[in-house]
Formats: sequence, C-alpha cells, structure tokens
Amino acid sequence: MEMKARYRTYSEYLKEKYGEKVYKIPLNLPVTCPNRDGVSGIKGCIFCGEEGAGFESLCNRVSVVEQLNQNIEYIRKKYKAEKFIAFFQNFTNTYLALGDFKRYMEEALLKDVVEIAISTRPDCIHDDYLQYLKDLSYRANKNITIELGLQSVNYHTLKKINRGHSLAEFIDAMLRIKKYGFCSCVHLILNLPWDHAEDVIESAKVLSALGVDQVKLHSLYIVKGTEMGRQYEKGELTLISLEEYVDRVISFLEYLNPEIVLQRIIGRAPEENTLFCNWGTSWWKIKDMLDERMEALDSYQGKKFDYLNGKAVKHFIMDDEGKKD
Ligand code: SF4
Repeated sequence: MEMKARYRTYSEYLKEKYGEKVYKIPLNLPVTCPNRDGVSGIKGCIFCGEEGAGFESLCNRVSVVEQLNQNIEYIRKKYKAEKFIAFFQNFTNTYLALGDFKRYMEEALLKDVVEIAISTRPDCIHDDYLQYLKDLSYRANKNITIELGLQSVNYHTLKKINRGHSLAEFIDAMLRIKKYGFCSCVHLILNLPWDHAEDVIESAKVLSALGVDQVKLHSLYIVKGTEMGRQYEKGELTLISLEEYVDRVISFLEYLNPEIVLQRIIGRAPEENTLFCNWGTSWWKIKDMLDERMEALDSYQGKKFDYLNGKAVKHFIMDDEGKKD
C-alpha cells in the first residue's frame, strides 16, 4: 500500500489549485547564463554541464509554440491531460534582452497553458521584467511561477561552487518576486560537499522566513568534464551517504513551513555522462526510503517550524491570554 506523504506534494497542490492533473512541459530557449559568458563569471557553476538542466527538453532551435504543441499532443494522448504549465527550464531564462524575453513569453500563451514557469538566477531578476510578467499575467490570465537556483544558503559554499552571486542577491530577488505577487520556487542541493547538516536546517529557515512558495530539492549529480567532475576524479570531494542524505531531507522538512510545496525531494538526472548520481539507485527508491523513515520517526513537514515571529516572547503572549480567561 502506498504511504501518504508526510510533506506537501506538488501533485496534490496542483490538483487543489487547478482541480485536475496539470503537466509541466519543459521548454528550451537559445539562452546562456551570465555565469558562463563573463558577466557574472566565466566557467559557470562547477557542476554545470553543457546542457544546463534541460536534458529532458527538445532542441532550442525548435520554436516555443512547436515545442509546446509536440509535447502537449503526446502528453494529452498518454495521460488524458487538459491543462499544462509552460516551463522555461534550461539555463537562465530571464538572461535575454527584454524584447526577446517578451517575444518568447508571448509564444507560450496557448489556450491550455494555465501557468508559465521560468527558471533563472537571482542576479537576473529585474523590476522591468517582473512588471512585464505582471501585465502579461493579467492580460492573458496565466499564473506565473519564478524558479530560482540557489543551491545553498551558505555563502562560503556559493563561492566554492562558483555561483557568481551570494546570498544577498538571492534575498533581493525573492523580495522583488514577492512584491509582484508571483509564485516562487527555489532549487537546493542538500549534499554539496562543503555543506553540513546545519546548513540544510538554515536553508529551511531562510526559505520559510522569506515566504518562498515551493522548493525543489536535488541531490548532487556530478557530470563528466565539469570542474566538479575533475575534483571528484582526483578524490578531492567527500560525499555523504544516501542514509545521511535522507536524514538531511528529513531535518529540512521538519524546519520548513508546512505551507511550502515540495516540487521534488530528489533530482532525476541522466545516468550516462555522470560520475556520481543518486548513489547508483533510482529516485523513487530514495523517495520510498524517505517516506518509510519519516513514518518510523513520526516526522512531518513543519514539525520544528516554531522559530519565526518572535519565538522568545511567545510565552508572554500566552501568559497574557491565560490571564484573560
Ligand atoms: S546558473 Fe545554472 S546555467 Fe548558469 S552556470 Fe550555474 S548551473 Fe549552469
């Protein structure tokens, strides 16, 4: 029998929001990243392969409309789905001249697309782009989600992985996204070699404090030919065990605001071309391990979410309320 997840799953959230199953269609634009072309950095994040994150999507020479239509037709037939999210997934999708950015977004406004999700970096969030998206959202009646890669809240780790931005830029980007009222999603890797269990807990606290809406958790996958791949082959990296990863996910969830939706708790990566990926096991086995361990520990999302809104003065408030009775 399938166990009920002890955290807020994305599939349940989509059903609540749209009343039916909604499928995310990955789209690939001919964009690059300021951390690769010299604006924020030259060599990119040390784990970033040539494909960015878009190994599941079609070639970027195919138009957005064509990518959407091809995928929608396939998914509609296979899963009888009627609603879709146009997901601009690969590289940094707001790293475009504003005119080009608008042109691509307008292409995604198909009737059955209910939401546009845009994956980008904290240093590519600008008010002009957000204002355009706000107008588009009203005009076309589409929801907007902005997905930000962060990977770690530890700014020393961000330097080690050559992110080309620090924690401050992430906070600025998130506050701007909130100001425009968009849904936000943050990507984190919970087993970066320089991060400790405390960093993972701090990540949950920072995301909760900032009012982030959704989270995508990944385990690290190390791609051949990357700087991290070279470090791994030279034996310079120490990676935590799968059991420890599961424990980190549990701590993260316990400190996370229970309202935050988990888009993923473990990444899916192509095995070919990787030196290390999910401890050589499938993502769904890891998910089962997590569910079983949470059940055994009676753990659940938000179990330790008690640290915001002046934790140290809460007992005064409760004392005052007690006196009123
Ligand atoms: S921000 Fe994304 S696309 Fe850019 S280098 Fe890092 S992982 Fe690659």
